Amino acid sequence: MKNREASADHLTVIPRNKHSISRKSISDPALKVLYRLSKSGHRACLVGGGVRDLLLGIHPKDFDVATDATPDQVRALFKNSRIIGRRFRLVHIRFGRDIIEVATFRGHDEDTAETDHHGRILRDNTFGEIEEDAIRRDFTANALYYDIHDHALLDYVGGLQDIEARQLRLIGDPARRYPEDPVRMLRAVRFAAKLDFDIEESAAAAIYEFGHLLAVIPPARMFDEVIKLFHSGSAVRVFELLREYRLLKYLVPALDEWLQGEPPESMLDFIDQALVNTDTRVNTGQPVSPGFIFAVLLWPVVHQQATQMQSDRQKMIPALMQVGETVMKRQVRHVSIPRRFSQMARDIWSSQPRFHRTQGKQPQRLLAHPVFRAAYDFMCIQTMVGLMPHRLCHWWTEFQLKHADSEAPERGKKRRPRRRRRHAG
Ligand code: ATP
Ligand code: MG
Repeated sequence: MKNREASADHLTVIPRNKHSISRKSISDPALKVLYRLSKSGHRACLVGGGVRDLLLGIHPKDFDVATDATPDQVRALFKNSRIIGRRFRLVHIRFGRDIIEVATFRGHDEDTAETDHHGRILRDNTFGEIEEDAIRRDFTANALYYDIHDHALLDYVGGLQDIEARQLRLIGDPARRYPEDPVRMLRAVRFAAKLDFDIEESAAAAIYEFGHLLAVIPPARMFDEVIKLFHSGSAVRVFELLREYRLLKYLVPALDEWLQGEPPESMLDFIDQALVNTDTRVNTGQPVSPGFIFAVLLWPVVHQQATQMQSDRQKMIPALMQVGETVMKRQVRHVSIPRRFSQMARDIWSSQPRFHRTQGKQPQRLLAHPVFRAAYDFMCIQTMVGLMPHRLCHWWTEFQLKHADSEAPERGKKRRPRRRRRHAG
């Protein structure tokens, strides 16, 4: 099917008894926001991933609300709220650990939207009607509205049909929508992987043409997107799709170059295994860390360069430290990694040779290192793919069990509640 023109004259309304979304599946905070807006005379709808995921029978990650109230009006209704964003002003309403994101319906005004010479929207805070808002969204599956007023589902762009066909269709012309915001290409990959959807043909083909525009995205935004991709619970598939669409070079250029060479099988297995491990952790609610992900993605390069520098294990540590620094320096020009995470990645790398030392006081010292748990997980993955001797994972697992007590606080002192450390990813 050809891309539908971006116009909203095909509204389909599905009444409350004809669709599967029930209030019971919407979180209390989201309902609270919807009802308070509605009772104050505003239009309020659930939109985006929340609606999409509920229709697919998936538990939504978060709930997004769209309304005709302006950010200031929303702000005035909720004291636990703040306005965020410069490109697009949004309101975040906080309920304990939950944040409900409230966006005002956006109109489109080409005269007021600030763009760069590629057509990338730098700032646009023109408000509009719900039907204009719908066509400003990225994919049809993300542009369905659940109206709290009558519990009907509103479809302005054929999103229901695309969800049915498990298809990600960009709203409007890809040649305009990708340049407007190149991050949409990464979102396409993330949703295709997470939802097991196909990217509609013209939206898929245009990624090859416009992928290079990702180079202009500010590195801080790239960091957020990279983490969303690799912590989506479908990192294995994400990685395949990033390679297929030739997008990896904009995220982790050094790894992309390494893949163009003759990558050894064991290292490819390492990446794969580490991503499987990350997916399992995410899907079972265990903590993950960006530091671990970058340690994994850059390990083939760091390992190769450090090995070339030094073959003697004793001198491997300084080599890893030096190479780690250079590789990281290059990486952060593309994706800005907060220091605590880049430091964690470097510590994971430089601690790997220390796992070979199982005599004397050295193991105790390594165990006490703040990055130990993540470095240990990393090491075990290396043993699984034959990059390190198999027995080491077993040895360190036993060693930790034996020394679990020595980590306990001294007797007599009051035990402080231990914070769960966020480690492996
Ligand atoms: P997730 O499950 O990751 O939360 P989501 O679809 O809800 O997926 P959000 O980033 O929470 O994604 O954004 C909420 C909605 O805002 C999207 O569903 C989409 O309609 C719209 N949106 C978000 N980012 C963009 C973008 N870059 N361009 C156009 N619309 C966007
Ligand atoms: Mg969302």
